[in-house]
Amino acid sequence: MDALIRVSDVSKRYDNGGPFAVQDVSLQVAAGEAVAIMGPSGSGKSTLLNLIAGLDRPTSGSVMVAGQRIDSLSETGLARFRRQRVGMIFQFFNLLDDLTVADNVLLPAQLAGLSRPLARRRTDQLLERLSISEHRQAYPARLSGGERQRVAIARALVNSPTLLLADEPTGALDTATGEEIGALLRELNAAGQTMIMVTHNPDLAVQYAGRTIRIIDGRVAGDSAGAGDSAGAGGRHVAGDEYLARAGHDGDATTARTRP
Ligand code: ADP
Repeated sequence: MDALIRVSDVSKRYDNGGPFAVQDVSLQVAAGEAVAIMGPSGSGKSTLLNLIAGLDRPTSGSVMVAGQRIDSLSETGLARFRRQRVGMIFQFFNLLDDLTVADNVLLPAQLAGLSRPLARRRTDQLLERLSISEHRQAYPARLSGGERQRVAIARALVNSPTLLLADEPTGALDTATGEEIGALLRELNAAGQTMIMVTHNPDLAVQYAGRTIRIIDGRVAGDSAGAGDSAGAGGRHVAGDEYLARAGHDGDATTARTRP
């Protein structure tokens, strides 16, 4: 497999001498795959996702994304990596309540250095694509959970990330809305977006991800991809469009730390 993500012998413990949250994990993900990470609570799923997102560093082992070794980057390098490569969505959306829908989506694009007209155009396109244009001037508190998650997805996509990472994206939604969000994620993957989602929802895993990795006690206990090549519906990364061409700006609103 031509790996976009290469996790090699990664272990993570939060406290020196404490238990391993993730232990000896090795896995590869190809461009265009949609991967579900499943497993019991506390088994290390979010920790693994955060290591791939560059939100945290492994205690040992290495994490390569798009040819770049991210575990040894400086804090500034990691912030840049996240800004350029990673879009993240969360169970509770993590939108900024004081900003309108449009401004929530616009902000990370502007922090990444996109000109205001381009950022606006990109925002409008995404709001349209995610069927939330009519709410562009609304504040998140006025929206339903499904609408908020659509805004969060638009925000995660605004900088055309190489990876879309999702931590329980349907965990706070009712079944029907969860299915809508799952279908949307599948559409994005069919258009080429590589994604990894942590989920407790087996339907989401089976219907919307081409591959399921099962984690138990911090270790990979199963991988539906087996040894073969399992490139997903897209099989390719939507090549960086004009919006990806920025670097060297501070600010990091696309990805928010889930833990201090
Ligand atoms: P999951 O996502 O599968 O529920 P986590 O990755 O959140 O599992 O947690 C794995 C283990 O690491 C758990 O024992 C959890 O208590 C511990 N853990 C997670 N985050 C932290 C942290 N910031 N500090 C200390 N321990 C943590």
